[in-house]
Amino acid sequence: MRYLILSDIHGNGEGLAAVLAATAGQYEQILCCGDLVGYGPNPNEICDWMRETVPAVIRGNHDKVCSGVESMEDFNPFAKQAASWTMQALTAENRAWLAQLPMGPMQVEDFHLVHGSPRHEDEYVIEGYEAGTLRDELRAWLTFFGHTHLQGGFQYRRGKLIVLGGPHADEERVTFTLDKNDGYLINPGSAGQPRDGDWRVGAAIFDSKDLTVELLRVPYAIEETQRKIRQVGLPTLLADRLSRGV
Ligand code: ZN
Repeated sequence: MRYLILSDIHGNGEGLAAVLAATAGQYEQILCCGDLVGYGPNPNEICDWMRETVPAVIRGNHDKVCSGVESMEDFNPFAKQAASWTMQALTAENRAWLAQLPMGPMQVEDFHLVHGSPRHEDEYVIEGYEAGTLRDELRAWLTFFGHTHLQGGFQYRRGKLIVLGGPHADEERVTFTLDKNDGYLINPGSAGQPRDGDWRVGAAIFDSKDLTVELLRVPYAIEETQRKIRQVGLPTLLADRLSRGV
């Protein structure tokens, strides 16, 4: 089966549309590692589409806060402002749907989806040393994760930890062939607010038969997203940061 893996869409309708256009016909099912809303101007559009299209979705920290499952006290001021805006923008139906999303890990075939890490749904896995501490916590040979908005991941090969990167600025895709004797933590990248210095939105295609993962980056109508962010009254910093991919 070929899967399109999405994460951290954060209400960015143009980001999601660009990923779907660039990957049309290249997968059979979509999976999502959470954070559908928060920061971006189109939370309802993302939820409506997700409810209809994607059977396997786990919750992210913004989904919890924006649906009232968790308080926003740990959020920074801009995330708080965005969460308050999103809470009042969401329809009652979408808010209720977000509130019932399951926590990861979620098993699909023999691999897992988590939002933050296999140890805790809100843990950030950024550096190799953090990934190193998770070696004994992996509950599947392959785990897709999000939360950091940093595309790439980690391969546990016997005693070694190998860092996997996404495409460079002049590339659209990189492909890895996986080995089931190894362990993997792979982040498909953010389809709504990348933070690795590349403004293009990210996603992954996993082929569970050929054991390949493609990490891809796609340009999108960023000015339109930025215009909407300003228009609805979200903090302008949330528009500006998209250009820099931070
Ligand atoms: Zn996120």
